[in-house]
Amino acid sequence: MFVKPFRYERADSLEAACELLREADGAAKVIAGGQSLLPLANLGLLDLDAVIDLGPVPEARGVQHDDGFLTIGALTRHREVERDETLLAYQPLIPAAVSWIGSARIRTRGTLGGSLAHSDPAAELPLVMTALGAEYELTTGNRTRVVRADEFHVSYFTSALADDELIESVRVPALGPGWGWGFAEISRRRGDFAIAAAAALARVADGRIVEARLALGGVHERPIRMGEIEAASSGAESSELDARIGPVVGLQAVTDTSATAEHRVHLARVLAVRALTDAASRGHAA
Ligand code: FAD
Repeated sequence: MFVKPFRYERADSLEAACELLREADGAAKVIAGGQSLLPLANLGLLDLDAVIDLGPVPEARGVQHDDGFLTIGALTRHREVERDETLLAYQPLIPAAVSWIGSARIRTRGTLGGSLAHSDPAAELPLVMTALGAEYELTTGNRTRVVRADEFHVSYFTSALADDELIESVRVPALGPGWGWGFAEISRRRGDFAIAAAAALARVADGRIVEARLALGGVHERPIRMGEIEAASSGAESSELDARIGPVVGLQAVTDTSATAEHRVHLARVLAVRALTDAASRGHAA
């Protein structure tokens, strides 16, 4: 399919991009890596009147570690996230999850902010950000606001982002002492979108989990925290997790061409146990 001609503008700062968005009054989209926007346009699922390229913007890139928190610029590419020494040292769950995204070619172009704004419930980054309780800094150029990941991702390809807003950065806690992480995914082939995925964090003391965080992706209209599984894990040794975590109830799972809702509910439990077991063993070793 041919994409109909659209106006193309290059922004040299986030502020300039916001100004162009305001002028376009809802008729323009920003483009970062183009790895979701252009496929949608090519498939005829999105009409583009005007595109504002964030490529030349020098800010909002890279990772900073400060006072127990990590701030990642929205324009940081997946490949940079995957290889970033600070993230590998202080929050390795994020690079591990990113390594599941598409192929090296996709990861070389795609950006953190693009993936979060696209808000695909089967994407890895919204899932790990939900598990981590990440905060997204959104800007209009004049005004900023902070939105938590679980409030930002509303439904399929739908987020809390307003037409005149951009994601500027994402803030997550660094992995604390005694904490471990785990990530488990089922997809048709490595690099395909998740049929189901789980991201877990566990704090271990005296060989037992004392605190756990678990989110699931690919199963529901948005990534979700699983409070009941977190509670069931508390006090468990990793070898007890399979017995402790009962059947997943109340999960409104999706049926599509990849899997039925029933199969996804089954996968949710299997992946939750795997991710939490890995998190517990890493927490134990920490
Ligand atoms: P773009 O395509 O440029 O933009 C996507 C959307 O975000 C657009 O609406 C755009 O306007 C908006 N946007 C971009 N940046 C910002 C910002 N800073 N603030 C506000 N809005 C913004 N993803 C996965 O998670 N897992 C996969 O397994 C996976 N497999 C893929 C396989 C293929 C073949 C392809 C083509 C893509 C795949 N992707 C996958 C998607 C990939 O991760 C994209 O890079 C990502 O979803 C979008 O990032 P981008 O920078 O390319 O955004």
